[in-house]
Amino acid sequence: VLVKQARDIVHFSDINLKVIEHDKKVDSIVKHALEDGLLEVYYQPIYSPVTGKFSSCEALLRLKDPQLGFISPAIFMPIAERNGTILEIDRFVLNNVCDMIANADVRKYGLEYTEVNLSVVDCIQTNLADNVMGTLDKYGVDTSEINFEITETYEQGITAVMDENITGLRDKGITFSMDDFGTGYSNIVRIATMPVEIFKLDKSIIQSAFDSEKSYMVMLNLIRIIKSLGKEIVAEGVETGEQARQLIKLGCDHIQGFFYARPMPKDQFVQFLKEHNG
Ligand code: C2E
Ligand code: CA
Ligand code: CA
Ligand code: CA
Repeated sequence: VLVKQARDIVHFSDINLKVIEHDKKVDSIVKHALEDGLLEVYYQPIYSPVTGKFSSCEALLRLKDPQLGFISPAIFMPIAERNGTILEIDRFVLNNVCDMIANADVRKYGLEYTEVNLSVVDCIQTNLADNVMGTLDKYGVDTSEINFEITETYEQGITAVMDENITGLRDKGITFSMDDFGTGYSNIVRIATMPVEIFKLDKSIIQSAFDSEKSYMVMLNLIRIIKSLGKEIVAEGVETGEQARQLIKLGCDHIQGFFYARPMPKDQFVQFLKEHNG
């Protein structure tokens, strides 16, 4: 047993060293990713049971390094937040999204709006609203065609600036979603006052709900609470037809997951809409 433990410890520190080296490498890749043209925005269709159409989608960033291949945004976005490139990167995403909406026939094929992830770092920029409105105007995109996904933070100070930014953009007609809802700092009492139109049930909630009956009850009642407040729900990470069927029955307004479609490059996404909504 001791030998095994010792081996595990050695193995563990080996892995840690590799992680640190890897992080440094990714850090320098991220710093040059924009100018090197390594970033591409993918789109994941989101199904709306009421209309039977894919009326929205989520923009998800992809980084492909010539040597390392695809690097997950779950790895490189936190690094971008730390090294300060996140603002430029999220601007790149919003520009791509607006360009797609304005120039790629997606309106014609029934796309109503696109969900764009906003980092906390974006949310505390005092010029956020001006930047966003400038970009939308440049492409002739209506505020109703953009939805921003935010995540909760526990820091009061940050929350105050965020709320101000969010209120400003909502006044102009942009809707907001609470992403990863049910994980992290979610305070059940705050649901009532969160400045969002949509709650995205995190995929971990969906997945555990279909593993255990008690988790299912938690999910079911979360859905009830959100609906009773008159808010919309996106179920995320839906991987099977059975899950989709149940979630639709429970009243989820939008269903997102590999069951329907994976995130895909723009041209493929337009083709997808044409085939399914056209
Ligand atoms: P997220 O915002 O929670 O995005 C949803 C993630 O779930 C995506 O991972 C998506 O590919 C994945 N997903 C969708 N359907 C399924 C499913 O059925 N099963 C499973 N297992 N996963 C599913 P992805 O693309 O790897 O993105 C990871 C995270 O990186 C995102 O989590 C988001 O926090 C961040 N991110 C991605 N793109 C951007 C961006 O443009 N800006 C910012 N600020 N963050 C981004
Ligand atoms: Ca998201
Ligand atoms: Ca999420
Ligand atoms: Ca997330």
